[in-house]
Amino acid sequence: MDINLAKLIELQSVDERLQRLHRAHVDIPLKIEHLHRQAAEHQQRLQAAEAEFAATQKALRQFELDERDAGARLGKTQGRLLSCKTNEEYRATLAEIDYLKNHRSELETKILEHLERVEEMQAQVAALREEMQRTTASLERQVRVKQEEFAGLAAASSGAETERAALLAVIEEAWLRTYDKIRAKRPGVTVVQIEGERCLACHMSLPPQFVQEIRHNNSLATCPHCSRILYYREPQPSGPA
Ligand SMILES: [Zn+2]
Repeated sequence: MDINLAKLIELQSVDERLQRLHRAHVDIPLKIEHLHRQAAEHQQRLQAAEAEFAATQKALRQFELDERDAGARLGKTQGRLLSCKTNEEYRATLAEIDYLKNHRSELETKILEHLERVEEMQAQVAALREEMQRTTASLERQVRVKQEEFAGLAAASSGAETERAALLAVIEEAWLRTYDKIRAKRPGVTVVQIEGERCLACHMSLPPQFVQEIRHNNSLATCPHCSRILYYREPQPSGPA
């Protein structure tokens, strides 16, 4: 294989590595932001549940006080019944007793409902706290891994740039021009293998004579369909070595 072609294949792999590093430079901060957002959402869910738990407890205490008041008023009103002087006063007192009984019964219902809700919220808060403890450690670990990955990008990029410069120094100008021109125009691969007389990038058939020439020379040749640089590699014998 022409040394230029061999080096161009290496250059392509370095360029692919650089591309992945550049993508990671954009993607990793986004991933970290997403992890932070997840942690904040957990925190918000827990805070909302804690707030509702506290509000329900407060409402329960108020209903309990009201119910005690209603009970005391009922007792007093019932006591007054015996000292009523007129029928009118008696009827009015009975009506008040009726009202207070109803009122107290309504408050008792509310107390039961709130007791139930307090229990539910207590369990929910406990479950969310447990989930927080479990996920916070995992999220923090994931953030650390991503931060380390991000910190390593600069060194990896500069290593790849050095490799790239060394390859540029040894590849002939005409090859590089062709390579750059294709790379600017076509997404994906630039230097592509021939397999079964097809270009592996565009999958179009190549004339057998053309393939034979490339197979023997492996010099600068481009696909007549997609203009990528073609090379031929003898199939590796398959099966156990
Ligand atoms: Zn092609």
